[in-house]
Amino acid sequence: MIFVEDLIPPLPPEVRGVGGIGMLGKHTLDAGLGQFVNQILPWVCWKRDVYYGKVDARGTSQECPDCGAEVRKDLSTRIHHCHNCGSTKPRD
Ligand SMILES: [Zn+2]
Repeated sequence: MIFVEDLIPPLPPEVRGVGGIGMLGKHTLDAGLGQFVNQILPWVCWKRDVYYGKVDARGTSQECPDCGAEVRKDLSTRIHHCHNCGSTKPRD
């Protein structure tokens, strides 16, 4: 099974055109990553008979993967420490 966080919104039409992509590095990066997540990866998963799913990214780093308790942390906190079950792991 492969799950990806649904972080990248579809590109608006004005940057999807040939002239648009490449003008800005960020758009190029977004386009490449977006294509990978939305097209290439689902296709490879289908080919390999692997389940592919997108999950809502909101709150995934705030919820303990072991017990489900909410552990609030800002982006600078890279390690997850659960106050409820003691689980410790990298936030990502
Ligand atoms: Zn926990």
